[in-house]
Amino acid sequence: MKHLTLSTVLTTSDYLPVVSQSKPPPHTYLDNRVTKSQTKHRRTRTRSQRARERLQTKEHLARLAVGINEGELADRINRCHSRLSVLTCGRHIARIIPNFTCEFRLCPDCGRRRSRKLQSKYLPMMRAFMLHHRVTPVHLVLTQTHRAETRKQSIKRIGDSFGKLQRRVFWKEHFKGGTWSLEFTKDKNGLHHTHLHIIGFRRRFFDIELLRGEWLAATGDSHVLNLKPIQDIATGLQEVVKYVSKPPDIRRFGAEDLREFLGLKNMRMFGTFGEFRGFCKGFDAADNEGAAMSELESLARDLVEGCACPQCDEPLFDLRMSGRELPQFYEQAESSPPGKARQVQH
Ligand SMILES: [Zn+2]
Ligand SMILES: [Zn+2]
Repeated sequence: MKHLTLSTVLTTSDYLPVVSQSKPPPHTYLDNRVTKSQTKHRRTRTRSQRARERLQTKEHLARLAVGINEGELADRINRCHSRLSVLTCGRHIARIIPNFTCEFRLCPDCGRRRSRKLQSKYLPMMRAFMLHHRVTPVHLVLTQTHRAETRKQSIKRIGDSFGKLQRRVFWKEHFKGGTWSLEFTKDKNGLHHTHLHIIGFRRRFFDIELLRGEWLAATGDSHVLNLKPIQDIATGLQEVVKYVSKPPDIRRFGAEDLREFLGLKNMRMFGTFGEFRGFCKGFDAADNEGAAMSELESLARDLVEGCACPQCDEPLFDLRMSGRELPQFYEQAESSPPGKARQVQH
């Protein structure tokens, strides 16, 4: 007998046929709806729309910073990616080199770069770990109840609960470590909604209801989680690091949110746990070339003006533009017919 609840998007092979008397919790659809809507949102937007949104987010952040007397931060955000050197064939962009990067944690441009760095660092280690230990990756989302508390308290609470979960026998028997990343939003009542996105390396299958029980034991009041198998580890990793690079509700951030965020110095948004943590420390990329495959990354680094575009073979040229012109450039590229390179005048 199989218990499928609304919140589980598992394939049936992910289940052990365990007879369970527990009823599906009444509101487990919540977390699934959240993760699904974000994925959909991301996929339906074009590059130009995303570039425009990044600009708007930065303008918004800079305004907020001015409002709370953080003029220097505002200035850094305004200067970040304000002048670009774009290596392009006219239709595709092979590489963008910015004049300046602000490195502010909430900056969407710097977040994208940080997320790419995390991917190229961890993907080879994940592949090697999976090969070595014969474990399979799953994407686990852990959520907690909403309370009237600060962001800092909310983050600490979910971190503590996850710590408790990891010390439980069930967890140790079924997971061999992985990575975690933090996602924080607010609900419509202004309460913090903090999630942990985990790539867990699973040793063996288990009944999802058992894991819910374990999470309830760790949190004391929340059994709400979502678990889905990861088919392709590169895509799975990309999925979880996006929360590191871009908190989804940033444009609803108010001055107080920014002030509170600036108070969270050294807050970690991504980390490793369990045996994967030790594995990463001892990992030598040079000895694991088979696993270290970030082909597109290394390809893009070697490209210079005159090289063939990796996507269409047309010659690449260097285009200088301001950061504000990038969305329009993407728009022109999106509307030019496939297979035909188009020169952009500046
Ligand atoms: Zn930046
Ligand atoms: Zn091209």
